[in-house]
Amino acid sequence: MLTDTIIRRIPKVELHEHLDGSLRPETIIELAKKQGTKLPADSPSDLRAWFSRGSDEKSLPLYLKAFDVTTGLMQDRESLRRIAREEVEDLAADGVVYAEIRFAPVLHTRQGLTMEEVTQAVLDGLQDGRRETGMEFGLILSAMRDRSVEESLRTAELAVAFSDRGTVGFDLAGDEAGNPAKKHIDAFSFIRAQNFSITIHAGEAFGLESIWQAIQICGAHRIGHGTRLTDDMTVKDGRIISMGSLAHFVQDKRIPLEMCLTSNIGTGAVPDYSSHPFPIFFRNHFRVCLCTDNRLMSGTSLSKEMMIAVREYGLGLDDLERLTINAMKSAFIHHEKRLDLIYGTIKKGYREIREEISS
Ligand SMILES: [Zn+2]
Repeated sequence: MLTDTIIRRIPKVELHEHLDGSLRPETIIELAKKQGTKLPADSPSDLRAWFSRGSDEKSLPLYLKAFDVTTGLMQDRESLRRIAREEVEDLAADGVVYAEIRFAPVLHTRQGLTMEEVTQAVLDGLQDGRRETGMEFGLILSAMRDRSVEESLRTAELAVAFSDRGTVGFDLAGDEAGNPAKKHIDAFSFIRAQNFSITIHAGEAFGLESIWQAIQICGAHRIGHGTRLTDDMTVKDGRIISMGSLAHFVQDKRIPLEMCLTSNIGTGAVPDYSSHPFPIFFRNHFRVCLCTDNRLMSGTSLSKEMMIAVREYGLGLDDLERLTINAMKSAFIHHEKRLDLIYGTIKKGYREIREEISS
C-alpha cells in the first residue's frame, strides 16, 4: 500500500544532512568547469557512481575522500549560495517541509572568505530556496573533531551570532577515534552559557564512551547516529531485556537519535540493514528519527530511507508519521514553531493522504 509516490508526498522532516554531502552531480560538473577543476568522471551518472563508490565498497576512506571534491568547489560565495538553494529545492521536491542542514564553515575558507562570509552565503542560498519552495530550514554549524579548539570555539560563537538569521545549533563532526569531544569543551561551554542547542556525531564508529561524553560532558541535546548505544543493552528477538544506565538515560530524557540507515552501512558502522539497531530503538520507544546524512555519497533521499524502513522493518504509515513527529519535536527551532509544523503541516498532510488512500 505504501508506494514510492505516497512516500514521496508525505510531509517529512530532515534533521541531519550535510551541505557538502548532498550536491547535484550536474552542479558539480558545471562548477568544476567554471573553476577549472578536474573531476574523476565527466557525466552526471558516472560522477554519481564515483561519489557513492565509498558507500558501495563500504570504505570509510573512500567515502570521506569524496568530500575533498565537493568542499573544493565550495570556496566562493556564488557557489555556496547556489548549492544551498539547490539543496532546499531538492529536499522540498522530496516532500521535506522542514530541514536542519549542517556544514563546517572552516572548510570553506581556502580562497580567503571569512567564516562569517561563508555562513552568510549559505544562509542567503537557503533563504532563496525557502522563498521558492516554502520549505522551512534551520542551519547548524559544525566544528571538526580533528581541528583546533580555537576553531571550534569560533564556530560556536558564529552559530550563536547568526541565530537571528537562521542558525539553530552547533555540531561536532569528524573522526571519533583519537579525537574525543571533550577536547572542544570550551565551544560547548560557550553554547550552553548562551542557551543554544548542541548535536554531536557520536557512537557511530566508536563506542559508548563517545555517546556518554557527548551527553554528560559536552551537553548534547541530540546525538548524530548513536548506533553503538546497543552496547549498553541486552536484546533478544528485537526486544530489550535489560539496559545500562546510559541507555536508560537516553530513553528517559527523550534524547533524540538522528539515525542514518544507508550512511551507517556505507561507512561500515553497521554491516547491513538487517543488523541496524534502528528498529530496536524505534520499537522500544526511544526518540529516533530517520535522516539521510549525505544524499550524494550515500546515493539516497529521505523518501528512500523511509522506503527502506518500510521494506526492511515493516513500518507502516502510522510509524512514519510517528518518526516525523519525533523529528519535528526534536528540532532546534522554537517550540511554538514546531507545534505549528506538527499540527498545521505534518498531521494535516498525513490526514489528507489517509483520506485519499481510503476513498
Ligand atoms: Zn553526519
